[in-house]
Amino acid sequence: MPSLSPDMPADYYQLLEVPRDADDKALKKAYRALAMQYHPDRNPGDAKAEAKFKEVSEAYEVLSDPQKRRVYDQYGHDGLKSQGFGGFQGANVEDIFGHFGDLFGDLFGFGGRGGQRPRRGSDLLVELTVDLASCLEQSQHTLEVPRDVTCSPCGGSGAAPGTQPETCRTCGGAGQVAMSRGFIAMHTTCPKCRGAGRSIAHPCKDCRGRGLQRQTRSVRVTVPAGIENGMRLRLNGQGEEGPKGSEPGDLYVQVTVEDHPRFERHGADLVAELGVSMVGACLGEKLSFEGLDGPVEVALQPGTQPETVLHIEGRGMPRLQRRGRGDLHLRVRVDIPTQLTKAERDYLVAFQAQREKSSERRGDG
Ligand SMILES: [Zn+2]
Ligand SMILES: [Zn+2]
Repeated sequence: MPSLSPDMPADYYQLLEVPRDADDKALKKAYRALAMQYHPDRNPGDAKAEAKFKEVSEAYEVLSDPQKRRVYDQYGHDGLKSQGFGGFQGANVEDIFGHFGDLFGDLFGFGGRGGQRPRRGSDLLVELTVDLASCLEQSQHTLEVPRDVTCSPCGGSGAAPGTQPETCRTCGGAGQVAMSRGFIAMHTTCPKCRGAGRSIAHPCKDCRGRGLQRQTRSVRVTVPAGIENGMRLRLNGQGEEGPKGSEPGDLYVQVTVEDHPRFERHGADLVAELGVSMVGACLGEKLSFEGLDGPVEVALQPGTQPETVLHIEGRGMPRLQRRGRGDLHLRVRVDIPTQLTKAERDYLVAFQAQREKSSERRGDG
C-alpha cells in the first residue's frame, strides 16, 4: 500500500470511520459523534482539534450530498476541486456552524452560535486623563459619554412615524442570504438590509432610519488610589443599549496618568532628583524635599557622593488594591556653582591650598 504524503487530504470515509456504502443515517451518526469529540467549544485553544473538526465537517458535507459523493467516489479530491469545492480548512468555524446550523441546533443543543445567542449592547471606551498627584487617593470623575439610545419619535423602528418598516425583499426577512462558494452554500449577512431583515421606505427624520439617537450622558467614575497609566476600568452595564430585551454593554474607561516633571514612577515607587549644594554634600545637612504630598525631611550625611540614592519608605504611590505605599527614591545631584564672586573664588583657592597641606600631613600624596 503506498504511503500517503502528509498534505494529501485524508479519505472522507476513513475520516468519518464509516464503510464506503454507509447510508445517510450512518453518516449522520458518525459525524455527530466526531463533531462532539472535536467541537471547538470542548477543546478551547486546541488548533489540532479545530482542524480535525473542519476535516470531519468537510467529509460529512461531501458524503451527505449525493451529487458531491458521486463525484468524490469517482474522481476523489481532485474531482471535487475541479468542480470548485475548496474544502473547509480555509473556512472559519462560525461559517461551518452557520452551514450546519440546523444539525448543531437540533442534535447537539449548541444553538448554532450565529444569530441565536441573545445579543447585548456594544461596549464603549472613553478616555480619562489624571495627574500623578490625584492617584494618591481614590478620586471621583464625571465623564461625558456619548451613546446610542432608542429614537423616541419612531420608537426605534427607524420608520417615519405613521409608517412601518417592510420585510427585506432580498433576504425575505431572514437577514441572511445564501452565498455559494464553489458548490457549497454559505450563509452571509444580507447586503441589502445588513442583517436587519427589514427595509424602510420612509426613514424617520430624527434618526435617519437607524432607530437610535446619539445622546451624551454623564457617568460618575471612581478611580482607585494607585491607578497606573494605561489601566482600564470597567463599568458594568454602562455601555450601549442592546436590542430590545437584551443587556446593555459595558463602559471601559482607559486611564492615562500624566507624566510628572519631577517624578518618575515605577509601579508603586517614585524616583526623583534631590539637588544639594556642593558644601551641603560635603558637610552634610538637613533638607526639605517637596514630595508629591507635602514636604519630606531628608538628612544628608557628610561626604554624600553624587548619584547616591536615598530611600524614603512609604512616600511613594499607594499600592493598587493593597495596603500601604511604595517608596520614594531620591537620587542626589550635587550642584556645582558655575559663577563665583571674587570672595567665593578666594575661599575656594584658600580651601584648595589648605587641602593640599593637609594631604601632605596625612601622607596621601
Ligand atoms: Zn435583507
Ligand atoms: Zn427615529
